[in-house]
Amino acid sequence: GRYRDYIAWLQRQDQDAAGRFWKEQLAELDAPTRLMQALAGQVKPVADGYGDHYQLFDAEQTRRLDAFARAQRVTLNTLVQSAWLLLLQRYTGQETVCFGATVAGRPMELSGIEQQIGLFINTLPVICRPRADLSVGDWVAMVQERNLALREYEHTPLFEVQRWAGQGGESLFDSLLVFENYPVSEALEQGAPAGLRFGEVVSREQTNYPLTLAVNMGETLTIHYSYDRLHLDAVAVERLATHWRNLLEAICQDANRSLGELPLLDRSERDLLLARWDQTGEDYPSRPFVHQLVAEQARRAPEAIAVLFGEQRLSYGELDSQANRLAQRLVELGVGPEVRVAIAMRRSAEIMVAFLAVLKAGGAYVPLDIAYPAERLRYMLEDCGAALVLTQRDVLERLPLPAGLASLAVDDPGEWQDRPEGAPEVDLAEENLAYVIYTSGSTGLPKGVAVSHGPLVSHIRATGERYETSPADCELHFMSFAFDGAHEGWMHPLINGARVLVRDDSIWLPEETYAQMHRHGVTIGVFPPVYLQQLAEHAERDGNPPPVRVYCFGGDAVPQASYELAWESLRPDYLFNGYGPTETVVTPLLWKARPQDPCGAAYAPIGTLLGRRRAYVLGADLDLLPLGLAGELYLGGEGVARGYLDRPALTAERFVPDPYGNGERVYRSGDLTRARADGLVDYLGRVDHQVKIRGFRIELGEIEARLLEQECVREAVVLAAD
Ligand code: AMP
Ligand code: MG
Repeated sequence: GRYRDYIAWLQRQDQDAAGRFWKEQLAELDAPTRLMQALAGQVKPVADGYGDHYQLFDAEQTRRLDAFARAQRVTLNTLVQSAWLLLLQRYTGQETVCFGATVAGRPMELSGIEQQIGLFINTLPVICRPRADLSVGDWVAMVQERNLALREYEHTPLFEVQRWAGQGGESLFDSLLVFENYPVSEALEQGAPAGLRFGEVVSREQTNYPLTLAVNMGETLTIHYSYDRLHLDAVAVERLATHWRNLLEAICQDANRSLGELPLLDRSERDLLLARWDQTGEDYPSRPFVHQLVAEQARRAPEAIAVLFGEQRLSYGELDSQANRLAQRLVELGVGPEVRVAIAMRRSAEIMVAFLAVLKAGGAYVPLDIAYPAERLRYMLEDCGAALVLTQRDVLERLPLPAGLASLAVDDPGEWQDRPEGAPEVDLAEENLAYVIYTSGSTGLPKGVAVSHGPLVSHIRATGERYETSPADCELHFMSFAFDGAHEGWMHPLINGARVLVRDDSIWLPEETYAQMHRHGVTIGVFPPVYLQQLAEHAERDGNPPPVRVYCFGGDAVPQASYELAWESLRPDYLFNGYGPTETVVTPLLWKARPQDPCGAAYAPIGTLLGRRRAYVLGADLDLLPLGLAGELYLGGEGVARGYLDRPALTAERFVPDPYGNGERVYRSGDLTRARADGLVDYLGRVDHQVKIRGFRIELGEIEARLLEQECVREAVVLAAD
C-alpha cells in the first residue's frame, strides 16, 4: 500500500518544472566533467578492481570545519562539495564542472516514508561554475542553494537528466560524493538489549563510477575514497585528496578571499615545483655575442670550412672577413644599434655573410622569405621600419620596395668588397636587437618579434651544448630563414667550428636530401615533422641511412608514428624534438631522445628546458598546477623576446608579469602542456586557434580578419582541414 502511495506521489509531481530546472542547469555545462581524463597522464591503468583511501580529520580539524560551516550558515556537506567543485575545476580546466551527489530520495511529505523498506536513493549532477572573482562566502552560499534547489527535483531519474544533456551517452560526471550521516553502530545500539555492544560494523559499497567519495561525519570527519584501478592509483588518489584538503582548509580560513586566490598546492609542493622549473641560474653567459663567437672560431681555425652551398665553399676566414667588409659598408650607410636591416635574398653562401655583417655592424636583421606574396613582403618591409634592405641584383628587380627604402645588392662587388677587413668597432648592449622575425597575427596582419643579443647568445650556447656540436659536425640547413629555428640552425654550428650545408631555393625531394646528406657527411639535420616523416619513409624504402648523428623535429607537434618510424629507418644516435614560440627565442624546450625512449603519447614530449629559463604550467587563473595536470605553458627567464616590434599593447597582452617571480615577464605560449613526473613535458595542443601548416604558423583569425574586410562578408570562420 505504501509503495502505491509513493507511485501516486511521483505522478503528482510537476514533470515539466523538473524538466525546466534540469535543462536550465545543463545549459551552463559545456561538456561532461572529465576528471579521469585529466588524471590519465599520471596513472598506469590496471584491471584490478577497486582501491581504497581513507582521509581522517582529527577532532580539532573537524571542529574548525564545523565552526566555519555554522558561521556561514551552510552544512558541512556544502563545504565538502564546495571544495570538491573547485578541485574539479582546477584539475580539468573546465569552467563549469559537476559531480554526482547521492540523495536520499524519500519524499518527506509522504507519511510513513521513513519506515518504508526499499532503495530510494538517486544520483544527480551538481553543476556549478566557480568564478575566480567570487568570494568564498558567496561561493559556499551558492553551492548550498544549488543543493536545496536540487532537492525539489531529486526524484528525477538520472537517465532523464542524461538524456536532456544529450552528450551521446557519456556520463555527465565521473566522480560521486555520498554524504553519510548515519552513525551505524550507535543506531544499532539504540534498540538493542542492555549490555549488547556493536563493535566494528563493516559495510561494502561500490558504485559504477571511477571515483566515489563517501563523506562520513561521526565524531570526526572521514572521507573514504573508493577508486577504480582502471583510472586511478594510490599515488594519484592520495595527491588528489591532499589537494582537496588544501582547498577545503583554505576555504575555511577566510570567507572574504576570492576563489582565484585559494591554493591547490601547499607551500612545500609549490616551492618544489617552482625550483624544479627554474634554470635561470645556469651558466650560459650573454656575452660575447654570436657574431663575436663566430669571429673567435675564424681566428682559431681560419682554413676550416664554414659554409657549403652547391659547389661553393666559404672558410671561416673568408666568411668572417667578407662579413667584416660588408659590415664596414653598412656602418657607413648608418647601420648601428637598433637599426633594422631587411634581408631579402636567395638562399646562398652570401646570405650567411649578410646575416653576420648586419650583426657585426650592430644592427638587427629582418629575414624575409622572397617566396612570400609581394603584398606581404611590402607590408613587412614597411612595418619593420628598415633603414636598408640587403638583397641580390636579380631579386631586387622583383622586390616590392616601399618608396624611399634604400637597398644594397650584396652580389654587386663594387658595393663593399674593397672595404677594410677588420670588424667595425660598435658599442652593443645585451638588450640591443639582434633580429626581428615575423609571425602571423590574429588581427589580420603579421607582427614582428624582436629578439636581443643577450638572450640569443645564451640560448645558442645552451643549444650547442645539448647537440654536442663540434668541428666534426656538418649541419644541413634546410629551413626557411623566415623562421627563427633557421638562425639557431647556422649559429650553433658556427660558434662551435662546424660546417653548414645550405640548401638552395628548391625544396629538395627526400631523394635529393638523402643524397646530399650522404655526399657531405651531414651529421645534424633539422626538419619540420612532416618533412622528416617523408625522409623516414624514403629511408624505409631505400635502406642505407646517411651517417646523421642527430635528427631534430622542429616547429610542430610530432606524431608518435613519425617518431617511431624515424628511429627505425633513419637510425641516428639521437632524435630531438625542438619546441618553441618565436617569442621565447627559438627553442626553450628541447627533447633529446635516445633510441629506447618511448614516445608515450599521441605527440612526442617536448623535453626539458634549455638554458637560463623558467617555466610554469598554469591554470586559467594563473594558478600553479601540480605535475601531471594539463595547463597553459608560460615561459620566462632569460629566453624571452623584447616584445613585438612597435606593438606595446599586444606585447603587454602576451608578455605578462611573472605571477611567481621577481618583476620579470613571462610569455603566454597558448600551448597546452603537462609536466610529467619524470621531468619531461608533454605537448597536448593549443588553447586557441593557431595552427601549423607545413611548419608555417598561422592564426586562423588573421585569415578571418582579412575575409571580414570584404564588404560582402558578414561572418567568417576558418578551419584547418587535412
Ligand atoms: P613558431 O613561433 O613559428 O615557432 O611557432 C610556435 C608554435 O608552434 C608553438 O607555440 C607550438 O604551438 C608549435 N610548436 C613548435 N614546436 C613544437 C613541437 N616540437 N611540438 C609541438 N608544437 C610545437
Ligand atoms: Mg619555434
